[in-house]
Amino acid sequence: MSCDLLIKNGFIIDGSGNPGFYGDLAVSEGKIIEVATILDYEAERIIDAQGLTVCPGFIDPHVHEELTVLTSGKFEEFLFQGVTTIINGNCGHSITPYSSNNIYEYMAEKGLISREAKERYKLIIPTWTDFSGYIDVTKNKGTNLNMGFLLGHGTLRWSVMGGSKNRKPTREEDAVIVQLLEEGLEQGALGISTGLTYSPSKFAETEELIKLAKVAKKYDGIYTSHIRSYRGILEAVQEVIRIGEAADIRVQVSHLTPNSPAAFEEILIARERGVEIAVDTIPKSSGHFKRWDRVLQFIVSASSKLFDRDRNGSPEAFKTSEGRLKIVNKLRFKDTLLLINTADPQMENRTIEEIAFERRLDVDELILTLLEKDRDKLTFCQGGLNRQDFPGTPYEDNVANNPLVMVGSDRVFGETEDPHAWYELFRQGAFPIFFTLCRQKGVELHEIVRRVTSLPAKQFRLCDRGLLAKGKVADITIIDMDNYGYPSNEEIDYTNPLTMASGVKYTIVNGKVALDNGKIKEIRAGQLLAKYGRLL
Ligand SMILES: [Zn+2]
Repeated sequence: MSCDLLIKNGFIIDGSGNPGFYGDLAVSEGKIIEVATILDYEAERIIDAQGLTVCPGFIDPHVHEELTVLTSGKFEEFLFQGVTTIINGNCGHSITPYSSNNIYEYMAEKGLISREAKERYKLIIPTWTDFSGYIDVTKNKGTNLNMGFLLGHGTLRWSVMGGSKNRKPTREEDAVIVQLLEEGLEQGALGISTGLTYSPSKFAETEELIKLAKVAKKYDGIYTSHIRSYRGILEAVQEVIRIGEAADIRVQVSHLTPNSPAAFEEILIARERGVEIAVDTIPKSSGHFKRWDRVLQFIVSASSKLFDRDRNGSPEAFKTSEGRLKIVNKLRFKDTLLLINTADPQMENRTIEEIAFERRLDVDELILTLLEKDRDKLTFCQGGLNRQDFPGTPYEDNVANNPLVMVGSDRVFGETEDPHAWYELFRQGAFPIFFTLCRQKGVELHEIVRRVTSLPAKQFRLCDRGLLAKGKVADITIIDMDNYGYPSNEEIDYTNPLTMASGVKYTIVNGKVALDNGKIKEIRAGQLLAKYGRLL
């Protein structure tokens, strides 16, 4: 017998939650054709996995990479973690409805892409006018990873209502939102996402969301939610559960912060009542590293009132005391704001507060001075090197001991041509960090693997993935588990946005080796996924 690829002598953890075993695995035409303790095949290629762990490719249920794929589909930061599939369109932001120009406008207004990127994308990326059109453009471009997509409630509402409006949709607007939602679901979107701390998603009351969740339910879609945390984490999770029960729909709580034990408990109780609910969490996060020009863009995007007269920049706002006040007031995480790439040893890697105190300056004035002038590479770290809203200790138990918790990296666009503009380091290590955290808490390796493979596959109805079994798609990762990791706070070079995870030797996407003994290949074997194993 012959096959395309034979993996020999590995410790196979199949993703079902069952303990691993030593064995071989054979792949042909992108599918797993046999898994057994010993296989005897003629193979075009043999990988000796002696001393390594063989797992189903990991599934990241929470990313924002739907524009990155159009400029670079390489995705090495995922392949180095063993990830083969990513779910996009979270937090209410998506690539439909309407034209690609409409989407760029939305993304730039929300600060998710820079204004320069918006103009560049218009020139270099083929246009689309609906979900299917986006899929065609992406397919032509090709991707190293499998990708699924959600429809964003924020983008839908913003597009139909003519911007971020703090009111209910009119009956006409409501009908159009529903129609666009149905259209996208028919064309293969996996469900709907909400971003309930962002405008305009946050302007929707629960009833509006239940109505849309019922539409998604008709297509067996999922409802994922960046929750309304300003009402309290527990209350916000209760809202998701209410929506899940009222619409009888599967729900996913997005990037739930581990510091609310009651919320994690509530989710388990809801599951016992029959709600199909699961959670993704970011196990650790550095702050957002943003170069000074991107910091300004986020401020502008967060305050349309202030910058109405000057949509393209901020110089006017700096000239009035009112404008200056608004700029500093719009800056998040001011108390932990840290500077790198300062070209000044007395400022480097220190907080604004420390520097201001030493120089007897007002914190706000110092920030404004730094932002006002072109400062080359000056980069602000918002949230500190270890973000307090993803604190890890002492809340590991919430993450480790809850069988419904998977890891989601929440990787956000970034720009492949300009990786220093905006990055968040630990998210490139989300999977090994999650593994380390769970292993330290005594969770068995096969249980951790289940949480990042068959659990998300079931939740998003990716029926032919997430397991190493005969007939399943050959998404596979082969890992040196003892060395699977990401640099710690002490080890990491914060100025390098391209820091990658270590320990993954091979990552195989649809039977093709995309990470080959530590080297990234641009094979673009990724597929665009609809539910039930269908391809877009
Ligand atoms: Zn979010």
